[in-house]
Amino acid sequence: MQQKETTSITSHKLQKKEFKSVLQYIGNTPLVKINFDLAPTMLAKLEYTNPGESVKARSALYMVEEAERNGTLKPGGTIVDASSGNQGAAVAMIGAIKGYKVIITIAEKISREKVQVLKAFGAEVVTCPCTDRIDDPDGYHTRAVEIHKNTPNSFMPNQYFNLSNSKAHETLLGPEIWQQTNGMVTHFFAAAGTGGTVSGVGRYLKKMNPNVKVFALDAANSWRTTNGNPKPYKVEGMGIDFETPVLDLSVIDEIIPVTDESALSMLKILARTHGILAGTTSGAVATAAYDYAKRNLSTNDVVVMIFGDHGRAYLSKNYYG
Ligand code: PMP
Repeated sequence: MQQKETTSITSHKLQKKEFKSVLQYIGNTPLVKINFDLAPTMLAKLEYTNPGESVKARSALYMVEEAERNGTLKPGGTIVDASSGNQGAAVAMIGAIKGYKVIITIAEKISREKVQVLKAFGAEVVTCPCTDRIDDPDGYHTRAVEIHKNTPNSFMPNQYFNLSNSKAHETLLGPEIWQQTNGMVTHFFAAAGTGGTVSGVGRYLKKMNPNVKVFALDAANSWRTTNGNPKPYKVEGMGIDFETPVLDLSVIDEIIPVTDESALSMLKILARTHGILAGTTSGAVATAAYDYAKRNLSTNDVVVMIFGDHGRAYLSKNYYG
């Protein structure tokens, strides 16, 4: 009897409290101080704490819900996209919750863990050969376009070319960074894959304060940095390998190339000295921001770095050993 009463009081209280669903917890990620022993304040935005464990949760949800609103994505539909793993995981998570079938194309180099995550969320995974350029006929982007064309009632977010990708970050992540730093951010560093994060956040921050400096990190072996002579590279999710309007060069002050070696060696430092088990693009962002800050910045500067995903996704690659 006693027990029953307690239960009913609890459930009554629970009804009054607003609980959010998984998708409503995307965003509002921590902005943490990293003690790099440098003059400026160095802050890491831990995007791996999003549901779906990456920065892509924000843009994926934005693109899917926009398609729902404008009728491009209908109930019972299929979502198809090409991904370096994280957009795919985010779309697969969203598809699982909202009841869409999800097909994700990936390149062979993608970590085993990311493929397992896609499958765990119920996505169909199509593995394609690694290619130098994203528009290669054998590449994962081209394959996704084909699957989308041949799948009735399907929607392709098309993260590499859809301007809503950067719009999402301009609308969500940019304002969050501005608020969390009380408008004190002076330098922003993000890895460029599609270019959506750096462009969207860059656009917002420069609108708020045109003096904010915006840095995009590119893979040293990418199509852009090698002037059209790309070579393979290990960092997953970073690298400008094609031309796209998503990458808004008008809000980027500098594109800094980062080698695999310097990106990956930073991962151990982040884990063992700072307690942050971050993914490969975070290593690239941290190493580039560190080098830049050491050479150029002083005590009044506030640097924000995007840590895009979690190190757990790469444990099988032995980068942390
Ligand atoms: N970091 C990680 C871990 C990513 O997966 C991605 C996206 N591929 C990025 C950074 C780059 O983000 P964007 O596509 O917005 O340039």
